[in-house]
Amino acid sequence: MATAAFSSIADTVKFDILSETHALENAKKRKEIARTFISDTVTVPTEDMYAYATLATLGDDVYFEPSSAALEAHIAKITGKEAGLYLPSGTASNQIGLRTHLKQPPYSIICDHRAHIHKYEAGGAAFHSGAAVIPVIPSNKHHLTLQDVKDNIIISDDGHFAPTEIVALENTLNGTIIPQEEVIAISEYAHSVGVKMHLDGARIWHVAAETEMPLSELCAPFDSVSLCLSKGLGAPVGSVLVGTKEFIAKARRFRKLFGGGMRQTGILAAAGAYALTHNFPQLPRVHALARRLEAGLEEIGCAILSRAETCMIFYDPTPIGVTFDEIGNRGSALPEPLFLGGSRLVVHIQTSEAAVDDLLGVVRVLAEEKRAAGFVKPEGQAESAFKDVYVRRVPKIDK
Ligand SMILES: *Cc1c(COP(=O)(O)O)cnc(C)c1O
Repeated sequence: MATAAFSSIADTVKFDILSETHALENAKKRKEIARTFISDTVTVPTEDMYAYATLATLGDDVYFEPSSAALEAHIAKITGKEAGLYLPSGTASNQIGLRTHLKQPPYSIICDHRAHIHKYEAGGAAFHSGAAVIPVIPSNKHHLTLQDVKDNIIISDDGHFAPTEIVALENTLNGTIIPQEEVIAISEYAHSVGVKMHLDGARIWHVAAETEMPLSELCAPFDSVSLCLSKGLGAPVGSVLVGTKEFIAKARRFRKLFGGGMRQTGILAAAGAYALTHNFPQLPRVHALARRLEAGLEEIGCAILSRAETCMIFYDPTPIGVTFDEIGNRGSALPEPLFLGGSRLVVHIQTSEAAVDDLLGVVRVLAEEKRAAGFVKPEGQAESAFKDVYVRRVPKIDK
């Protein structure tokens, strides 16, 4: 029998997180996601994914969790590596991957200037690994080449410099694919001078889907690869880092050190497995939908800054006299709103065909209004500066 004092504490501790309206809110959320072009991180678990996940094993992953271990082994197998490590995020996976390779500063990491590890991981390479980053602007404005790497790598006994120890590539990078011959050439060169290769393969799934090259072939030139389950594949949580057995054993210790050792992760691993089986096969359809969106924007007169090679488009409505804010505001004022950022449009497994039609409708009507008001496309429109391809616009989303 609980004492009155204990019951009183229990009363203050208890918390019913399920609001009366949450089922309705979730239904609304699912509709919004189908109309959100801001990112592919917004995808949500389906009822079927939830149902499958609840059947997973119940181990503690700091000791041994069978479903999580099976997922790690599976990702290792399909990427042609010896071992895998399940991590809570792509950032953790990249940063622990880099940290595991790097031992004694000073040193540097070479990457594309737009790389996630450089721009969007809160300066983690400096913080966790004490590494200088050499961000390189690709000379072809698309992907890093062997020549770009050779021109920027630091292999020198001159004490002024931080010698390069890792070349970190990203594939896809902003939805674009780096040609595999280039990856191989960079890797052969890097390895010949004792430099490691890391791949931020958060969206490598899209490369496999688009090029029809096996993941093992895409990952072969790399010593370590980070793959995300929670972007294009639509799992709620998780990334997997792969590499040699020895590398992963050390990375597992770093995972603990960084506070990323989780417990009953079976349910998350199973959601990831569900995504591999049911969502990966949807990527060709997603890419086709992105290409349809791109074709529509071009037909209306928008400039395409970065093509729909996979699931992303970067566009510019300046040639039709329209701004991102006008498109975003018009989209959010629709009876069924659209959620839009700036120049980047991301199509994902839960994007609806109707959302693409409605977005094209909004842009088309705005273009017509501007034309009617006397807007004429300026002659010899300057190509948008490469570094400004990603114009961010912070949309208003009510919770
Ligand atoms: C999202 C992303 C990451 C990081 O993943 P998080 O799970 O958000 O930490 C890393 N690399 C790329 C290319 C990404 O798009």
